[in-house]
Amino acid sequence: MMEIQCPNCKYEGNGKYITKGSVAVELVLWVLFLFPGLVYSIWRLSTKKWVCPECDFENVREIKKTKEVCMPGILIKIIAGIIGIIFLLYILGLIGFTK
Ligand SMILES: [Zn+2]
Repeated sequence: MMEIQCPNCKYEGNGKYITKGSVAVELVLWVLFLFPGLVYSIWRLSTKKWVCPECDFENVREIKKTKEVCMPGILIKIIAGIIGIIFLLYILGLIGFTK
């Protein structure tokens, strides 16, 4: 768990961890299209975040007690960005081929 501070309702304590999107969509994309499945999985990873358990406010502040390495989050976003660009090129390629 991670302790958070909510600027909305002044809650302090353990945060709630959420991920956007759904596992069902992820699975369908993986089975049918593979590559979009990968993109979707990475997108979901990049949307994982802590929210306030009281009011579901998203922009909560972390109360850092230990020295945690916060690089992975940034790395995932960079990787997601790169894969997003590759995905765009892939879609453009598909459109080009089907013309
Ligand atoms: Zn709150």
